[in-house]
Amino acid sequence: MDEIPDSHPRAESLRIRHKIIHGMEHNVVAKAGLIAHGRGEAFDYLLGEETTLPAKKAIKAAAAALLLSKYPVISVNGNSAVLTPHEIVELAEVSGAKIEANIFYRSPERLEAIKKVLEEAGAKEVLGVGETANGEIPEISSVRRVVDTRGILIADTVLVPIEDGDRTQALRKIGKTVIAVDLNPLSRTSQLANITIVDNHVRCMPLLVEEVKKLKNTPKEELKKILKNYDNKKVLGEVLKLIRDRLKEIAEKGSTIT
Ligand code: ATP
Ligand code: MG
Repeated sequence: MDEIPDSHPRAESLRIRHKIIHGMEHNVVAKAGLIAHGRGEAFDYLLGEETTLPAKKAIKAAAAALLLSKYPVISVNGNSAVLTPHEIVELAEVSGAKIEANIFYRSPERLEAIKKVLEEAGAKEVLGVGETANGEIPEISSVRRVVDTRGILIADTVLVPIEDGDRTQALRKIGKTVIAVDLNPLSRTSQLANITIVDNHVRCMPLLVEEVKKLKNTPKEELKKILKNYDNKKVLGEVLKLIRDRLKEIAEKGSTIT
């Protein structure tokens, strides 16, 4: 990979893009993962490429939900594996969540490749690969329904970064609490999840790890209060208003270049 100079105005975005391309070249990321990433980038542009206040509210609620769960699972696809392998492992450790490799375009080789990336980052157990990956979500057709009988199938809460709407809907239908990380506040995933963190997965994961650490010794009643006061529809509305106001300001100024 060519070195991207720090002085490049889009250095960080380009570095992330290279991680996704590298992941595809090593059969961790699916081809469609490249397109999904591009869609995410476009929304990140609209958000100003920073973690917004509504995203911070969602991160706090997500941390509370993970800590209150009896059996939380982090669902990992190719994109999230190559973007934040260490943060996924750390989040699992601090929240007591299981890690499950679970992908839209299912192939044993790619599941193994994802598992390897996570193990190299320190994961001791990666579900979704091998013989226990034979559970089924009844609401979804074909191979996309396969989940691990020790993972998502028996989970009460599932964290789904960069996920498709059909699967989010199916997880809700079978009673899971769904926490999504999705840059598009209008996607079906964002609209259907219980808690939607509208932020770049790369920025949100370290913050989520920190928030779980911060809330870890908080009494359950306090955590429940955080969840009770959280309103996902309202928070998504706040994200849209933020984009609207930002675009209005730019439109009036006539340029994004300062
Ligand atoms: P949906 O099926 O939920 O309506 P979609 O069909 O538009 O969404 P998918 O490809 O199914 O899109 O899902 C991928 C989602 O992940 C997209 O909404 C995209 O914006 C988002 N996304 C991509 N990269 C990132 C990232 N790095 N961080 C957060 N979200 C991302
Ligand atoms: Mg989709």
